[in-house]
Amino acid sequence: MTVQVKVPDIGDFDSVDVIEILVNVGDTIRADQGLITVESDKASIEIPSSTAGVVKAIHVKLGDKVSQGSVILDVEAEQTPVTAPSSVEKTSSPESTKPTVSAPTGVKTSVGDDAFDVVVLGAGPGGYSAAFRAADLGLKVALIERYNTLGGVCLNVGCIPSKALLHNAAVLEEAKHLSANGIQFGEPTIDLDKLRSYKDNVVGKLTTGLSGMAKARKVTVITGTAQFKDDHHFIVELTSGGTQEIAFKNAIIAAGSQSVKLPFLPEDDRIVDSTGALALKAIPQKMLIIGGGIIGLEMGTVYSALGARLDVVEMMDGLMQGADRDLVKIWQKKNEHRFDRIMINTKTVGAEAKADGIYVSFEGEGAPKEPQRYDLVLQAVGRSPNGKKIAADKAGVIVNERGFIPVDTQMRTNVPHIFAIGDIVGQPMLAHKAVHEGHVAAEVIAGEKAEFDARVIPGVAFTDPEVAWVGLTEDQAKAQGIAIEKGVFPWAASGRAIANGRDEGVTKLIFDAETHRILGGGIVGTGAGDLISEVCLAIEMGADITDIGHTVHPHPTLGESVGMAAEVAHGSCTDLPPQRKR
Ligand code: FAD
Repeated sequence: MTVQVKVPDIGDFDSVDVIEILVNVGDTIRADQGLITVESDKASIEIPSSTAGVVKAIHVKLGDKVSQGSVILDVEAEQTPVTAPSSVEKTSSPESTKPTVSAPTGVKTSVGDDAFDVVVLGAGPGGYSAAFRAADLGLKVALIERYNTLGGVCLNVGCIPSKALLHNAAVLEEAKHLSANGIQFGEPTIDLDKLRSYKDNVVGKLTTGLSGMAKARKVTVITGTAQFKDDHHFIVELTSGGTQEIAFKNAIIAAGSQSVKLPFLPEDDRIVDSTGALALKAIPQKMLIIGGGIIGLEMGTVYSALGARLDVVEMMDGLMQGADRDLVKIWQKKNEHRFDRIMINTKTVGAEAKADGIYVSFEGEGAPKEPQRYDLVLQAVGRSPNGKKIAADKAGVIVNERGFIPVDTQMRTNVPHIFAIGDIVGQPMLAHKAVHEGHVAAEVIAGEKAEFDARVIPGVAFTDPEVAWVGLTEDQAKAQGIAIEKGVFPWAASGRAIANGRDEGVTKLIFDAETHRILGGGIVGTGAGDLISEVCLAIEMGADITDIGHTVHPHPTLGESVGMAAEVAHGSCTDLPPQRKR
């Protein structure tokens, strides 16, 4: 039976533009699946399908104006309710390949009423957030984690311990700068044991807090290493000894990722990954960072503040890929003093452990001729997902060749009652993405209409200065030929930045040249990671130049720079020399 799907009553949206078409002819769609996005002056909204089936014809195109009753498409409706997605139209993870099978074959078990409603595998930010949200929604939940503390990579060996150390590094360096203002401190003495315990206490406070919150929500925490037994059971090798079988009605895979190890590096205590670097065993005189991404540069900032000299080697043509080059340039200028060598377009090709250090050889544009000696080598060349380590095939869950688990926008794998979230479903591998995905999975299982529909996910390098970006970058706009207008506010004109003695920063906003809506933003400067949140909200809300420029920001703050960057784009900024009129 062919059904015409029409624009329903969507409130104030009358004669609105179609800005996105989310399906193609031939797609199999679910009831409630987004078909088109329409946009009015103030907001955009996704119009869902009223029926499941196969798309036979699409009656709208980009730029059309639609109102209530406009026909969107024809669907060959299904006679029976859909039990499994036969294809996934939109994936939340660019790294994932789309599931191509509708349901697992050969694995079909069932469970009794006493099974958990949800079992979450992995207690990182994705896993514990999913478990807690599911429990808050009234479900019976178990959370399996191989380590004794909850919180995963982020809390134990990632986001939090690195920021605990970076905070100390920032205060230490700021105190040094005060000498220029007439305030002199003596040379700092560094007690590594105390610094390490500060970091461990920060982690402990948070992970203990999580255990308390799990108890308060009656989430059953099982400590051990789990693998699928079939599509309704996990087998857990308990840390306390023995094994336990856990039955689930629904599962959420949140098993995260691990550091990539370069195969040619020898086994040696002086060659570490980020976890080894966070252990902060000693302060090396000379440290090599392999990989000029966020994790490597953050750890480099810490070690440099504590006294190490740094070299960094990066295969690509610049450090901190992802951020606009003009922002990175400002960071680099401020950080040149930390580095003896910044080797870009250069590969690490070998290393030899000797008594007096690790001798590393390089090839490429910045490669020194001779192998270089280092006291500590940090490999920070990326992270790989743990998809291939959980016997997902026993449950019929597809894992791609790189170890990612493809999911749809509801975080569902190809097996309808098994979901996956966080690092294991794709880039960007960031805690805030994992948390939001975790909430979506839990809400979908609880029967809510939820979908991971983030327009943008911000990235932040918590270096000094911080570099933060979200949405479309200027470099991407250029590469993709997208017409933009930008507003750049240099912090050299910010009263607060000057008062702080840190006016090297820049706030840049990117707007659509035609609609003047914000598409992206980038900030370099102290606290950029906090400041970028306003840009994220502006993008999600579809704000335009005047929305941001007319928002009264408190003075004197660094946050003002966001409003002023919009004023610059508008041509109405009075904190800079006269600009062109719009
Ligand atoms: P994870 O945090 O990786 O958690 C997965 C959990 O699953 C782990 O606890 C693991 O032990 C458990 N597990 C895996 N397999 C099994 C199994 N078979 N049985 C039982 N348990 C299992 N992100 C940010 O957003 N901001 C930052 O500032 C930031 N800084 C970082 C700094 C460093 C040094 C590192 C390494 C990462 C950083 N990240 C940061 C990334 C962030 O930590 C990850 O994106 C985030 O932890 C992913 O969460 P997750 O829930 O997907 O998985």
